[in-house]
Amino acid sequence: MASALTDKLSRLVKDLRGQGRITESNVTDMLREVRMALLEADVALPVVRDFIARVKEKALGQEVLGSLQPGQVLVSIVNRELSATMGEGVSDINLAAQPPAVILMAGLQGAGKTTTTAKLAKHLIEKRKKKVLTVSGDVYRPAAIEQLKTVTAQAGAEWFPSTPDQNPVDIGRAALDYAKKHFFDVLLVDTAGRLAIDEALMLEIKNLHAALNPVETLFVVDAMQGQDAVNTAKAFKEALPLTGIILTKTDGDSRGGAALSVRQITGAPIKFAGTSEKLDGLEVFDAERHAGRILG
Ligand code: GDP
Repeated sequence: MASALTDKLSRLVKDLRGQGRITESNVTDMLREVRMALLEADVALPVVRDFIARVKEKALGQEVLGSLQPGQVLVSIVNRELSATMGEGVSDINLAAQPPAVILMAGLQGAGKTTTTAKLAKHLIEKRKKKVLTVSGDVYRPAAIEQLKTVTAQAGAEWFPSTPDQNPVDIGRAALDYAKKHFFDVLLVDTAGRLAIDEALMLEIKNLHAALNPVETLFVVDAMQGQDAVNTAKAFKEALPLTGIILTKTDGDSRGGAALSVRQITGAPIKFAGTSEKLDGLEVFDAERHAGRILG
């Protein structure tokens, strides 16, 4: 099945027939269409520029210029480059640490951190046969602590209690201590999010990171944020050594651009995609399928 972009490029190429060879300026016209497709998918502008520059370099090799079907060849270069950019280095959760392996969940409020923490617990229990403990460091919202308790039970993991009068670092240390004593394989640490980036939040999560030395620091980001996800991603990347991304709410996002933006800005692999509100709505991120979604 041809994508909308393939159709557009084929039409462009048809218009060129009769002029003889495809030229560098024709490739530039085609790249303009690619650029439009990426912007329509809500990929952030600086990311689009960077991406187009890389594709152009590849396209100006003989591959496109010498081809009888330059439109199709260009689309396949774009597809390959999209998959490579979004998929490189993809792997399951890294648990290569002296147990308990600590996983720190970072992201804005509403991104889906708490839900994703429970989804990951379920994944690690069912697919990796691990004994999993969760804890919430969200001392600002007692409801968030209760929410984690509820979803942790649904996931079949154990929940470590915390209260709003505690300091997140003390909570993290106490949970780690408990996890060690009771032979847990994994400690999942849910953290406080804010509606927007602020310095206090970043300092707090940095301190938590320093105290717990997590093997995975996962940035949880809402796919529906589109190009706005770029600023959030930048702020979290500056504060923390991110080891992976979890892209949530992909079920409600028809455009798909956030994946490319966030991957390129953070350099961290997208490990999973959230596909529903339910706890089994977590899939290993499929870069190729996602590339198809971006190209429409
Ligand atoms: P937090 O503030 O980052 O902890 O976010 P929550 O885990 O409370 O999630 C916020 C809302 O997003 C809740 O209503 C979740 O059910 C919903 N949510 C989380 N992940 C997904 C997902 O992958 N798909 C859909 N459709 N909803 C999600």
